[in-house]
Amino acid sequence: MKPALFLDRDGVLNVDTSYAYRLDELELTPGATAALSRAADAGLRLIVVTNQGGIALDYYSEKEMHTFNVELARRLAKESAGHVQIAAFYHCPHHPRSEKPGFADPCDCRKPLTPA
Ligand SMILES: [Zn+2]
Repeated sequence: MKPALFLDRDGVLNVDTSYAYRLDELELTPGATAALSRAADAGLRLIVVTNQGGIALDYYSEKEMHTFNVELARRLAKESAGHVQIAAFYHCPHHPRSEKPGFADPCDCRKPLTPA
């Protein structure tokens, strides 16, 4: 089994612009690529785990979030000459203040949920 590094997205990999989803607001966090390169050198798989409550709040769609994630991964790879590869993105689309059916219910994927 290959070890993995689980990373938050907003404020860790990209500058947190509050419910970031627009590509023109996507800016890599200074030092993120260098840190991820060292993690890749250490043999760690890079996995992003992120709360994306903006989906539940209708600030953006799941598709827009995926587009943002793809571009984020592309930029990290480009800035590292292909060294940094994000193995997977996982997200929680829920938010306690959501009015969308099923999106405000307590879920088991929102951070920082700890095992019962
Ligand atoms: Zn959730």
